Amino acid sequence: MLYMIPDYYKEFQCIAEECEDTCCAGWKIVVDARALKNYRSVRSIYRKKLKKSINWRKKEFRQGEERRCAFLREDNLCDMYTNLGRDSLCRTCRLYPRHVEEFEGVREITLSISCPEAARILLHKKEPVHFLTARRKGEEEYEDFDLFLYSQLVDAREVLIKILQNRELSIAVRMKLMLGIARDMQLRVNSSELFACEAVLEKYQKDAVCQYVKRDLAHTKTEEAYRFAEELLSMLESLEFLKEDWCVHLCETQERLYGNHDSQKWNRTTQEFFQWLSGSGMDWEIQKEQLLVYFISTYFCGAVYDGEIYGKAWLAAVSVLALEEMLKARWLRNEKMLDQEEIVEIVYRYSREIEHSDINLEKIQSQARLELYFR
Ligand code: SF4
Repeated sequence: MLYMIPDYYKEFQCIAEECEDTCCAGWKIVVDARALKNYRSVRSIYRKKLKKSINWRKKEFRQGEERRCAFLREDNLCDMYTNLGRDSLCRTCRLYPRHVEEFEGVREITLSISCPEAARILLHKKEPVHFLTARRKGEEEYEDFDLFLYSQLVDAREVLIKILQNRELSIAVRMKLMLGIARDMQLRVNSSELFACEAVLEKYQKDAVCQYVKRDLAHTKTEEAYRFAEELLSMLESLEFLKEDWCVHLCETQERLYGNHDSQKWNRTTQEFFQWLSGSGMDWEIQKEQLLVYFISTYFCGAVYDGEIYGKAWLAAVSVLALEEMLKARWLRNEKMLDQEEIVEIVYRYSREIEHSDINLEKIQSQARLELYFR
């Protein structure tokens, strides 16, 4: 079995009661069969607590006020961990924030940026992310696994990450190239020309394509970019919410940026925001790169199961664009100030709302379209 992790993976350590937003509240925690069996066999005095804190029929932990896990104490430490030790935790709690993507003979493990500490590590990283691999014992065969498509996706992902980490190009150019590759691959796959994907990758690594993309970007009209940003935020508002105050946050963002329907004003704010960022010592350009690489490395090869190659690149691009709009609105709210911790907060909250809902992920991918405008 081949295992893959990002190079910052081992830097992670849960900060437990220091965490600004515990992962033990707000969403359901499903308990695996093995953990349930262990809980049934507990004979100590803790048995009573287990009995009443688990919904045995639904196989999940019960929740109290503000959807806090029944085992989460007032001080935000886990009562089960304290009483029964780490080994007693169910698979979900043991793994989080580790996120595992499974392919035939491959396990890709990453740190979900829905955890504030994992987001902090990624967003503070200055160097391009590398991925480490190791082989361990254990083989497996899936019944209907398309190995050919998977290997094409792995090759494409390598090229995408190389392009996304090319710091000689602006992030806008890198994003356009990423979308172009994914779109052209999608067209080849749709017309059963999978073998032609290699040529797509070659084409997009040529300087001529890069120059074409730069010229194309220079023609983006303010009105188009404005309308796209506005539609993107209202699309997010139509998704399901994990927390009600996320909806308030989206409404505030929209009101601040598009409330007076003035695309020129929005454009001036955008320019001013970028200027402020470049003089502030913040590395938003690098952070965008890390986020794009995070989304592509985590989700792109999953297209082997649903065929949504372009949808995966679209998810990466619109996530970064939506985050940028939210940061811009926060900067305006703060009277043109922003700090790193606010970036961490907006990123991990976005990730919780989007990445932890299959419905939301699918909806975003399904709305992928060919035109995407940005500044
Ligand atoms: S969100 Fe992350 S840092 Fe916070 S308690 Fe959970 S695993 Fe620990």
